Formats: sequence, structure tokens, C-alpha cells
Amino acid sequence: MKTDLDFLRPYFLGPASENEDVLEALLLEFLRDHAYWRRNFHPEDGQRIDPGARHSAEFQDFEERTRRELFALSAELKRAVPFFHPRYVGHMSSDLLLPGLIAKLVTTLYNPNNVSEEGAPVTLDKELRVGIQLARLFGFATEDGAEPCAWGHLTSGGTVANYEALWNFRSVKFYPLALQAGAAAAEFDPDGVGPDEKPLTAYSAWELTNLSIDETIALRRQVARAAHDREDARMVHRLRRAVREARLESMGAASFFIEHGIKPPRLMVPVSAHYSWEKAMKVLGLGTANLCKVGVDGAMRLETDALRQCLDEAARDQMPVLGVIGMLGTTEFGAIDPVHEIVAERAARRESGLDFGIHVDAAWGGYLTSVFRDPDESFVPRQTVREGFEHFPSEHVYQAFRAIADTDSVTVDPHKLGYVPYAAGAFVARNREVVDFITQQAAYVFDLGDDESEVPRSEKLHNLGQYVLEGSKSGAAAAAAYVTHRVLPLDRTGFGRLLGVTVRAAERFHAAALTMADRLADRVHLVVPFEPDTNLVCLGLNPKGNTSLAAMNRFGRKLFSHMRVDPGQPIQIKEFIGSYTSLQHGSLPEHHAVRILADLHVDPSGFADLTGDVGAEADHIFVLRHTLMNPWLMTGPADKTYIDLYWEYLERSIEAVLAEPAMWRSSDESIK
Ligand SMILES: *Cc1c(COP(=O)(O)O)cnc(C)c1O
Repeated sequence: MKTDLDFLRPYFLGPASENEDVLEALLLEFLRDHAYWRRNFHPEDGQRIDPGARHSAEFQDFEERTRRELFALSAELKRAVPFFHPRYVGHMSSDLLLPGLIAKLVTTLYNPNNVSEEGAPVTLDKELRVGIQLARLFGFATEDGAEPCAWGHLTSGGTVANYEALWNFRSVKFYPLALQAGAAAAEFDPDGVGPDEKPLTAYSAWELTNLSIDETIALRRQVARAAHDREDARMVHRLRRAVREARLESMGAASFFIEHGIKPPRLMVPVSAHYSWEKAMKVLGLGTANLCKVGVDGAMRLETDALRQCLDEAARDQMPVLGVIGMLGTTEFGAIDPVHEIVAERAARRESGLDFGIHVDAAWGGYLTSVFRDPDESFVPRQTVREGFEHFPSEHVYQAFRAIADTDSVTVDPHKLGYVPYAAGAFVARNREVVDFITQQAAYVFDLGDDESEVPRSEKLHNLGQYVLEGSKSGAAAAAAYVTHRVLPLDRTGFGRLLGVTVRAAERFHAAALTMADRLADRVHLVVPFEPDTNLVCLGLNPKGNTSLAAMNRFGRKLFSHMRVDPGQPIQIKEFIGSYTSLQHGSLPEHHAVRILADLHVDPSGFADLTGDVGAEADHIFVLRHTLMNPWLMTGPADKTYIDLYWEYLERSIEAVLAEPAMWRSSDESIK
């Protein structure tokens, strides 16, 4: 019987470069193809580099120096991290899918710049198509004429995609206030506009900061239409200019908030969020103090009750809510936030006049949606998805993935579970009209949304640099993602099979952990602190008899030192390479921390938010973290899988660290 692993065999270079001949043949073919393209651009021009030149001393010197430097580099690169190998279970990186790797290398020869179509007549279109491929994966409509119609583009990574999400939310959120102020300055008060169909002046600041994205887009159109209907070109001109000057982007955030007497907006993210959200608040000048960190439950997922409290507070204090961020696969634990509950909560809040954007940070988990997507684009019933797995997907996980289609935008990283080379992140938005609120080009025209008769939207986006944070950007990254998605479609017949293998590997790893907990019980307490939602599994370990949290953490770190990348050592001596994370005091509910510590037989009274030398050892729970994304984890030499080998290795490492108690135990701590 053909398995998914058989299916995947051609797709990667492989842990031992098994498919090297394929890579070599394709690279050579497309290198030659590129050379012919150059040669045939203006063949009548002849050659500029005389073939005799290579016999010159300068030429030979150049070649020698280049070779020498490249040899040195190549030699040093042997200390690079072997992400490609199933012995690497550390961070979110693995082998690369050949189609994307080749597309990237080959396209780099052409060096397209996707900032605009002028620099990238081919790859810019590919980038927008990647946006459409991803938008459809998430269930957004993309047909021309769809309202709303989604779009997406690539970024350098998830961090920049997250910045962009916030930038988009901010520009839409505060547009209605600028529109009202601009209209007042131009002595224009359109009637029957907005969701309440009343005069623009009749809206309060709170109402205007609580329109949905779609309502704001509609309001802008209505006001533009009303202005044009006046047939007073000078008034329209005044209005445009006044709106532009009244925008937050012109005034600066601080002046804008003071001018309108509104409080700084809040952004709600789970405590488990990636640190790029803090950076985003800093970069946009919104302040990390306005980041409302929502508590998580025992599975490290955003807790909807805690979100409700944050929203209640914002409503009570009339602080506009820029957005709520749900994590679809946290970086530390792969946990899936209840996106469906966030969506339901927004629907309920809309009734009471509180509105906000919902963004899904699916930098890690976004591609897993392919497990749920049929080639006909329908969302597969849970029962069908379950057939391939032991436990996945829980009802919770299933509902969360299904609800992405009801959110406003998504971050997803092709350079993580898309298995394409760095740098490739992506930002996908449900409604592409949002770009008109952030365009850099001819602000004059776009300030009022009165350009509808001009260039069609899909064509306008070919001026990509006008709508995104970055400027010059790699067209090769776009080619890589595009070709990858074409060869391995974003549904359960393509990516879904690859990612299904990773989830099964995590299930296998988890099951092995439970067995090993028994086997090792005479030496260590081994605990999986929470059921994994996806393909990351964490482990807590405490030597039997130890009750000190500080000593347990030292033990864990010592264990980890065997499997960490050490720039001073050849990487080949490592049997496995892993990663770790810490459950910080305060980042998970106290009763769950107590439960985990109890399972580890550690005295929970020592767990505190202390500072200084004493506290630093006991303000967190150290756990080993395993990212199980390598396709070959369930294969291995001599009838063993790499998962088996890992557990054998871990047992040996545990023995070794236990044999050196001085390294982690300390005299003042209780060892029974
Ligand atoms: C990796 C990650 C990011 C940041 O993405 P980069 O590509 O590293 O910039 C953001 N959010 C989550 C959830 C991530 O896992």
C-alpha cells in the first residue's frame, strides 16, 4: 500500500541528499536556460567579455580569490544547523520542498524586484497569485466581482506581516473620524450615510471608532458619492484636502487622539502571543502599555472569558479596540486559540456598539488549514479529517480553523510550514479595499475613494510598493511560494498530506512520551504539560526525589545543553538537536501551574515572580520543546524510527545528567 511517506519521497533533497541528481539536473537545465536567455537578448551585439580575457592575470587572480572565499564560506557553513535532518527537532525549520528551492535559486538569476511591475513583470503577478492561493486556503472569496474580495502578498516574514495587520487596522479604524473632521472643515455635511443612515455630523467619536471595516469602506464611498453629486469641484477639492490633513497618518497618532479627545486604542493578544506584537505596538507608536494581554487556559489557548473582561474594560473606559489577535499555532506550544469564539464574541459586541478587527496570527499553523480543505475548496467534515489521526483534530481545533474565513486578516509563513526558503511570510486580508486607506500614491485621488472609474483594483495592486510596508522585495520568494503551491496544492491531496505526516509524528511522539513516563518513573518524573493541539510537543522533567523548582530547571537546562547548537563545536557530534521554552510565572493560570508542578512532584510554593539571582531559577518552569515538522521522523535506520531513537537518546542523556548531581542540585535544596 502506498503511504503518504511514499508520496513525499520525491519532494525533498532528503536527509542524505538522496534526490541530489534531480536537483542537479533541474538546476543545470534552468541555469543553461537562463544563459541562453541572456545570449539571445540582443545577439547582434556580440560579446562584451572577450574569451581571451580569462587568460589574463587579473581574471585568474579574481577567480582564485573568489574560489578561496567561497571555499572558506562553504567550509564554515558545515557548522550550519542541519534543519533538513529528522535529528533536528528544535525550531520551526526543516528541509525545503524542491520545487520552491529550485524556483528560488533559478529566479534569483533574474533578480526581479517585486516592489512594482516595472521591476517584476512576471513575479509580481506570481506574488498576487500566491496571495489568492492563500486567501482561498483560508476560505476568503477572491473572484473578481466578489464583495468583499480578498488579497494577499508576501513579506519578509511573520513579524512584518503582523506589523502590516496592525497598520491596516489602524488606518481603517481612524478614517471615519478624519472624514468627519475633513467634511466639517469643508463645510459639507452629507445626510443618510453610515450604518445608521444619518448625517455624518450626527455620529459620535465612539460610534465612528466602532464601525466595521466593511462599514468604513461603505461610508467612504457614500460620502464621496454625495460630494460628487453636489457638482461643486472646488468643494470636492477642499474636502479631499481636508480629509487628508485630518488623517491620523498626517497628524501623527498623539495629536490625532488629543484632537478627538479619544483614548489610545487597545490591542488584545493572548499572553502566549509571539513577541512581534510588542514590537508592532512600538513601531507604530501605539505603546506596549496599550497591549491588553489576555490570559490563557490550561492548554495555553486564549481564554474567551479573559478576553471578555478585557473588552468589558475597553467598553467601560471607551478605549477603542484596534483588534483582537488569535494565535493559530503559538510559537512555543503550537496551541490553537478559539478563533470561532473570538468571532462569536465580536458578533455579540457589535450589538452593543463595540467593534474591532480580528486578525489571526497563523505564522505557524496557517498551512495546516490544507488538512481541512478539499480540492473543490469545501471545508472537510471533522469525521473525515479524523480518519488519518489518533486524536487530531479536537472539536476545538476544527472549529478554530473553520472560523478563519470569518476574520479580517491572517499572517502565515511560507518559510515555516510552507517549507520554502527564507525570507517568505505572507499577509492576507479578507477585503482588499483596505489598501485604499494606506496607499502612498496620489493620496489626492484616493482620499475619497473617488477613483472607482479608473484603474481596476486587481491592476492597481501591481504597484505593490504603494500598499505594503516594505519597498524593494524579492521576486524569487514569490516564485518559490507560487511554484510550491502549484506542485503541492494547498488542500488535503497536497500540503495536507505532508502536514498530516507531521501531526501524526507529533501524536506518535506524544504517545511515546506517555510510555516513557512509566519506563523512566524510577528515575525522573516526565510530564507532557498540556495536550498538543498540533505538531509541537513539550516535556517537563524532574529527577525523582527532587522537589525544588530551581533544581529541576537546572536539570532541564543541563539536559538541553547536550542537544543545543553550540557555535564552538562541530554540529556532527550532536545526536539530536532540540529546543526549550519556559512557562513563565504569570503566563499561565496559577492552578494550571500548580497542576503541572504537582505532576512533576515539585513544591509549587517556590514558583513566584521573583527577580534577581534567587528568583531567576524559580520564576519559570523549564520544558523541552519539540517541533515535529520533519517528514522523515517516522522512518529511520535499522527498523527504528527517529522518534524511537530520540527517546533512546533522551534516556541516555537523562542518565548522564542524573550521574552528575552537582551540576544541578544544590546543597540548600531538599532532596529526599
Ligand atoms: C514565527 C512566528 C512569528 C514571526 O514570524 P517571522 O517569520 O519569524 O518574522 C509570528 N507569529 C508566530 C505565531 C510565529 O510562530
